[in-house]
Amino acid sequence: MKKWFVVVFALVAIAIFAQGFERNQTVYIGGSLWSPPSNWNPFTSWNAVAGTIGLVYETLFLYDPLVGQFEPWLAESGEWVKPDTFRVKLRNNLTWQDGKQLTIDDIIFTFELGKKFSGINYSPIWNWLSRIEKVDSRTIDFIFSDPRYQEWGQQLISIAIVPKHIWEGKSEADILQGANEKPVGSGSYYVESWADDRNVFRKNANWWGIKELGLNPKPERVVVLRVLSNNVAVGMLMKGELDWSNFFLPGIPILQKSYGIHTWFKEPPYMLPANTTGIFLNVRKYPLSVVELRRAMAYAIDPNKIVDRAFEKMVTASNAAGIMPVPGWMKYYPDETVQKYGFKYDPEKAKAILDEIGFKDINKDGFREDAQGRPFKLTIECPYGWTDWMVSIQSIAEDLRKVGLNVEPIYPDASKYNDDLYGGKFDIILNNYVTGVSSTIWSYFNAVFYPDAVNADYSYSGNFGKYHNPEVATLLDELNRTSSNDQAKMKELVAQLSEILLKDLPFIPLWYNGAWFQASSDVWSNWPDTSNPYAWPIGWAGHWQLGGIKVLFNIEAK
Ligand code: CA
Repeated sequence: MKKWFVVVFALVAIAIFAQGFERNQTVYIGGSLWSPPSNWNPFTSWNAVAGTIGLVYETLFLYDPLVGQFEPWLAESGEWVKPDTFRVKLRNNLTWQDGKQLTIDDIIFTFELGKKFSGINYSPIWNWLSRIEKVDSRTIDFIFSDPRYQEWGQQLISIAIVPKHIWEGKSEADILQGANEKPVGSGSYYVESWADDRNVFRKNANWWGIKELGLNPKPERVVVLRVLSNNVAVGMLMKGELDWSNFFLPGIPILQKSYGIHTWFKEPPYMLPANTTGIFLNVRKYPLSVVELRRAMAYAIDPNKIVDRAFEKMVTASNAAGIMPVPGWMKYYPDETVQKYGFKYDPEKAKAILDEIGFKDINKDGFREDAQGRPFKLTIECPYGWTDWMVSIQSIAEDLRKVGLNVEPIYPDASKYNDDLYGGKFDIILNNYVTGVSSTIWSYFNAVFYPDAVNADYSYSGNFGKYHNPEVATLLDELNRTSSNDQAKMKELVAQLSEILLKDLPFIPLWYNGAWFQASSDVWSNWPDTSNPYAWPIGWAGHWQLGGIKVLFNIEAK
């Protein structure tokens, strides 16, 4: 009798294991995990499994790029009560996943950790944040020596609040380098398990937001899959093995028509914009130091050819300033400035500019020499294997050769490419790492102009071509120090920065890379789209706080 019971029990257990999780309670998501999960440390969010911040750890605010607004999250409210004082009121009844209360002391602890240890990614805020003061049991004031309104907003949606009772005993090395394999956050999901090909998040049935926000995470489990290629992802999506895809996938019309795959727009470009992609030019290296040459290049390149050839119309060509078409940014769009100083595809104009500066093909080999008659050759690079970008730089090089510029596409492996990019060791380089959607248009101009790059061996924050202009540094600081309430000043500064970008062209914006999103309706429905725009549908690191988590509160099991 006993034996029989054990056998049946074992068979049932095997059956459950083989079946995996209850399918209609599980969301399978892909597009953010490229190596086996090994890190859940919110202080090294770039190495952590996507969702570590957003699902497990939470931020004081979210930001919705679809409407251009901050949304209080752990905070109940936040406002500038004085020009130098930002007051945060915390929600009631916040809890950690281990059952302890989340209090104002956890908030203070998290921010002050950046002062205690200088190596935390938000430590630099202590150069302009002076102190934090407790007002009452749920209210704190952040008092600034130098309020940087724009950057602060971005910090409010980026800094993951951690439990003091767990982190206060950790060493600096543990905080800065630890894997944090048992993360305890305050979020709607916790880490249940992981394997080489997946990370499993399990619903936190005691999440504070169920009562306080009236939001209920629908899937019992969110399984982040490591899918090895986009081709594999297409197959999984067609078979309904992947519910939510954030991969770059070709063939959207067929996926829509024959497999019912859901995208943001039903028609091209299908996808929301996620960042501005363009070329950084090595402005310190002759002949790229010649501004007219850069200007001729801007006129010579046809971004719409790239949109068609490399992206099957899933992206759109950018405006000349590269300002992304999201509401929070477009309200500052300097239309007159772009009309006056902007460029558009016009190869004849490119040739005329080159003729005018004396860059002519003297020896009739098809390529222009410089004004002194010296031949020159430039390279343009992107990582090997990034097929859409490889096609893109081929198209750019082709356009530049058509106007007589000898430009060759090269494809180093990704690590060499990154070293070239960060180290400024290139002629022309295609990139979009730091020009992504954010809560502030300041971040875009900071990415394009980042002044500290000029004297640094390596820059990770932008201005990869090391463009130097003290006026830009001043304007950027001024923009950062302008409150979003001062719309007129914001607009004026954006116009001035755009004018410098368009005149000097250290970066030539080309198109908006997509917020790749394709969803299967086999198991889950009510995915967001342009007619039901309830959330930014992306689960990449840094995007859960932009609305990714809201997808999980709104999808419905069939
Ligand atoms: Ca020649």
